Amino acid sequence: MAAHDVQTSSTTQQPAVQLVNRLLLDAANAGASDVHLESQERGLRVRYRIDGVLQDVPAPPESVREAIVSRLKVMAELDITERRQAHDGRARLVVGGRELDVRVSTLPTLHGESVVLRLLDTVRRPMGLDQLGMAEDTLAALQHCAASPNGMLLTTGPTGSGKTSTLYALVQRLSSGREKIVSVEDPVEYELPGVVQVPVRERGGMTFDRALRSMLRHDPDVLLVGELRDPETVEVCVQAALTGHLVLSTLHTNDAPSALTRLLDLGVAPYLVGSTVEAVLAQRLARRLCPDCALGVAAPEAVREEMRQEGVASDFIRVAVGCPACRGTGYRGRTGIFELLVVDDEVRDAVVRRDGAGQLRRLALEHGMRSLRADGWRQVAAGVTTVEEVVRVLPAALGSVHAPKRPAARRRSRARKAETKRAQAAAGDATGRADDASSHSGAEAHD
Ligand SMILES: [Zn+2]
Repeated sequence: MAAHDVQTSSTTQQPAVQLVNRLLLDAANAGASDVHLESQERGLRVRYRIDGVLQDVPAPPESVREAIVSRLKVMAELDITERRQAHDGRARLVVGGRELDVRVSTLPTLHGESVVLRLLDTVRRPMGLDQLGMAEDTLAALQHCAASPNGMLLTTGPTGSGKTSTLYALVQRLSSGREKIVSVEDPVEYELPGVVQVPVRERGGMTFDRALRSMLRHDPDVLLVGELRDPETVEVCVQAALTGHLVLSTLHTNDAPSALTRLLDLGVAPYLVGSTVEAVLAQRLARRLCPDCALGVAAPEAVREEMRQEGVASDFIRVAVGCPACRGTGYRGRTGIFELLVVDDEVRDAVVRRDGAGQLRRLALEHGMRSLRADGWRQVAAGVTTVEEVVRVLPAALGSVHAPKRPAARRRSRARKAETKRAQAAAGDATGRADDASSHSGAEAHD
């Protein structure tokens, strides 16, 4: 595929070409991951997704709507005369000297075709493990688990939570040249030096399952498997983990304990889950405050109380303001919010007993797991992100569990404290505190 060089200076270009080029350049400069062009009754609405959040940008004149859509379809080698079907195509662009791989999707809508562009930087490198925003103790524990010669290490979270990037960062750290690391991915998101990467090509017959079985014959030490999505994949991974391989993969669950019960749902025997999974890391991405304009303020009492309940104390927080450097949003870049569940003997026993996710969660918290919410508040207290971001990416149900009826005798004092806090939180719910209804309501919904 030939790369279109996107230039904005030429005066011989048609207006639509100029507008599209200017739009692409602006989107790339703003660090947008996606550009949304939505056909409305009057013209196009244009939005960029930056750091996971959509932002409106000035719309082009209504008169050029169809010309813009057609121009984008031409770039992606799509049929411009067919406007009643959805299309998918790709374009290679050189924007301001950077090479971008652009996925173009069109959708026929009520008021005409809408287009979404996904911009992928072809030379981008995954972030380092210590750039993800992880607390030092979590990072140390994760690396300890990753040093195991066999077993499974899973990251979990919704789409777009950064779980694949974390696995990539982990693989980079493991890649010392002594191990053979093979990955099977759909699609390959980054090129990883030192890793044999196998892209899945369903059409060419290289299915996920087949790729996985083939990669085992390449004598790997470490396997990176894009996603555990069906019983067949899970079975192969469990077998690999049992036979001297370290398997890294992702799941879609809300929190770390639910990943263990999801494996049971996928047909893995409880004793196999217990004996293969070393740790599960749940995560979210929250926007980072812009360092140029963030403002320190006294933390409101309701926020301090919420933080105290998760064991975080801070009298001051920072709020988003907005300046030219952050396009007025107050944020630049993102930080990971993490919850690491290390499978120790007691958690293993609980899995074998088929305890539910809620029970596993309580046990993990007793054993010192920092919850997603607690990790979010830790970063609010550190001035990395805001209360609004933590609430946005961790809506109500997460992290809330009901206090057990009576604490077991062996519990450590820290766990007891956490228990009391949770009981208080539950009591707060019952009396209907309006200020944090959003953070506690629906606690039952999750497991
Ligand atoms: Zn700013």
